[in-house]
Amino acid sequence: MAMPVDSTAELLARAAVHAGRYLATVADRPVDATATGDDLRRTLAVPLSEHGEDPGLILDALAAEAATGTVASQGPRYFGFVTGGSLPIATAADWLVSAWDQSAQLHVMSPLSSVLEAIAAGWIKELLGLPAAWSVGFVTGSQMATFTGLVVARHRVLELQGWDVGRDGLFGAPPIEVLVNAEGHRTIFTALRMAGLGAGRVTRVDTDGQGRMIPDRLARALDRVTTPCIVVAQAGNVHTGAVDPISAIVPLVRERGGWLHIDGAFGMWAAASPALRSLVAGAEGADSIAVDCHKSLNTPYDCGVVCCAHPEAHREALTLPASYLRPTDGERDARAFVPDESRRARATPVYAAIRALGRAGVRELIERQCALARRMAGSLAAHPQVRILNDVVLNQVLVRCAPPTGHPGSPSDFTDAVVAEVRREGTCWLGASLWRDQPVIRISLSHWATTAEDVDRSASVILAAVNHCSATPSGPA
Ligand SMILES: *Cc1c(COP(=O)(O)O)cnc(C)c1O
Repeated sequence: MAMPVDSTAELLARAAVHAGRYLATVADRPVDATATGDDLRRTLAVPLSEHGEDPGLILDALAAEAATGTVASQGPRYFGFVTGGSLPIATAADWLVSAWDQSAQLHVMSPLSSVLEAIAAGWIKELLGLPAAWSVGFVTGSQMATFTGLVVARHRVLELQGWDVGRDGLFGAPPIEVLVNAEGHRTIFTALRMAGLGAGRVTRVDTDGQGRMIPDRLARALDRVTTPCIVVAQAGNVHTGAVDPISAIVPLVRERGGWLHIDGAFGMWAAASPALRSLVAGAEGADSIAVDCHKSLNTPYDCGVVCCAHPEAHREALTLPASYLRPTDGERDARAFVPDESRRARATPVYAAIRALGRAGVRELIERQCALARRMAGSLAAHPQVRILNDVVLNQVLVRCAPPTGHPGSPSDFTDAVVAEVRREGTCWLGASLWRDQPVIRISLSHWATTAEDVDRSASVILAAVNHCSATPSGPA
């Protein structure tokens, strides 16, 4: 491959060859990155040249580092965070997005991107059981989807009090009471900070043993609320996968005239499966919902959506008129629903993925992730030193490992030692976390290509790591 490339088509073909090779081998390499930052800088941190370098050789240089410098989250045995892979059709469509290089903010700037986004939005609402009249914004992920939802919520609850937050800001505005699932995702608190609602002044509503908001506690907290309020619930706790009892929460928020936002980054996809749908029953009664496409749906980074029951408020909260921004009648100007101005046509791979999967394909994709999580939990639970801490309702398995009796190390270090040993071994990758102040392993089944065989092989490796660490007084070297 070491030869100069002069035509665009040849350059793209060369990228395709590199990408094809990467994907063909990603399942067989160690899942963790093996290169350090220094290793990568040694070849990549070249002095900035005066006249630039050959594009084909630059691609070769990038590709040469990919197998060691990336984490194989595009492989079937990466179980970290909640990280979906990318379906081949979604990756391929994403290449077209880059090649077309459309600014997908206004219909007039890219009719194709605008139309595809509107269709993808419709399909997402259909799959999630949300009314067709809802508005949808395509953002980078659930962090921005929740931020956007809260900005719209802030606009709307203050508008109902006769306050125009867009014009007058929050200074002197009626206070907004915010109530959040006490185990809400970190990004909710970041979003609250960015939206000027403050992360420290919220009421954290108590949860049950799985991290679900307790409706009675919410009701009691709401009884003390005298001002406009925003409630943030969760569909899919990152540790347990648990979903808040949404149908009990909706009427409580409705009674107070509040706004209900649901962080449904991965859990909301339960709605696409008749077998799982009851977990998120009532979600259509929320005011806004954040959902990721780059997790469970397996489209490439980055893509999440904010779905909103109040399209007018959604639009008003995010857009200002400008003389050069003329709407196209009856067409979608995506810009109205997101904080961005210029933006990538990130709905295009979503369109392609959903069209390729169909309704049954999406359902199977989601159900398979959950079935594999149950399979993983079942295999691990057979070991006497392993405890599954959650009810495996979705795709998350939460694990703690205990040292054998008489083991000299600290019991609280044992779980982390198992994670380190698994990562070193290389077959799969697990997340380490603290849950309720105790070390845990988070195993997330989110990749479209993961098979039962991948799960069985990984479970064996994890159990071997438990045995290895049990026999090693100070944990892995
Ligand atoms: C991943 C996740 C987020 C953040 O989403 P991004 O796509 O990373 O911005 C928020 N909430 C939950 C429950 C998540 O799993």
